[in-house]
Amino acid sequence: MTDIAKDMPWLGRAWSTVQQRLAQDRLPHALLVVGEQGVGKRAWAEAVAGLLLCDQQVGLDNGAPIACGQCRQCQLIAANSHPDVRVYSPEKSRMVKVDQIRALSTFAVASPQVAHRKVAIVDRADQLNINAANALLKTLEEPLPDVTLLRLQESGRPVLPTIRSRCQALTIPLPDAEDAGRWLSARVSELEESIRPSPDTLAKSLMLAGNAPRLALEYATGEFLAQRDEAFEAFRQFMKGQMTVGDAARRFKTLGLDDTLWLFESWAADLARCSAGGEVQDPEAADMLGYLARSNPPWRAHQLLERVRESRSAGIYNASPELEATQLLLAWRELMPRKRQTT
Ligand SMILES: [Zn+2]
Repeated sequence: MTDIAKDMPWLGRAWSTVQQRLAQDRLPHALLVVGEQGVGKRAWAEAVAGLLLCDQQVGLDNGAPIACGQCRQCQLIAANSHPDVRVYSPEKSRMVKVDQIRALSTFAVASPQVAHRKVAIVDRADQLNINAANALLKTLEEPLPDVTLLRLQESGRPVLPTIRSRCQALTIPLPDAEDAGRWLSARVSELEESIRPSPDTLAKSLMLAGNAPRLALEYATGEFLAQRDEAFEAFRQFMKGQMTVGDAARRFKTLGLDDTLWLFESWAADLARCSAGGEVQDPEAADMLGYLARSNPPWRAHQLLERVRESRSAGIYNASPELEATQLLLAWRELMPRKRQTT
């Protein structure tokens, strides 16, 4: 039996909504799930798919159904090879393409192969181009009784009103530090000792991921932390006039565009917090940001935030991280007080 709310308690609310609706036979054809990057939306969606497809759902004490974990459907789900579950997620272009949505439509109208229903998951449904969004809308307009569509979307991204009105929306909140830390420790304890991240690495990953546990796991076990440290050091040296903009921007290359924009956004958000008298999230940046916050009016932080958001929403999917970093670094240096002329 699989009860995801035990493993990831912060999914509990969105999870029990599905259980209740299912028990009452009132599950909508389409659900829209919103949450931060790395909070566990995909894990939730896969658990929902498992529950919906299971042939012998088991009732918990409170009457909530969960998947049996034994039947043929559950076995196929566990092996990640159930033909009646499809996941559509962004490809290299970072967009969900219209071809993928057309494939979804074909999948939706076909009969289920081994289960009594089908589940289609659109991961990063905020990354649909206009053609893909229209194609998806068409699918939503003609709901089929044996298909459930799960749209996963990152917080703060716009949803077309026509799509929103056709989906029931659920929100997955970020866990608190304790729950996130517990989940993360359990995951890394499964790793071999030689590659197991240290407690310091885990703490830093959680901090940088804002407690989004899956994102923190990715950070703790991947290259991101080292790349981020190098980029941050370059940023710091550039601001102090100890590194050229070209050299500093080059350190952002390996991070890629998304993570580069994300880093600049989080520093700008920390600067805004600092300017408003609050605490920064990234303690390593506290000294520098505190200094900048004292020597600049608060609107400068918001201008920098806006600058990152513009870059992102401009859909500059082929822009280079190095080029974006160059422009953002130059914008940040405007915040450094001019040195007094020595006579
Ligand atoms: Zn089952």
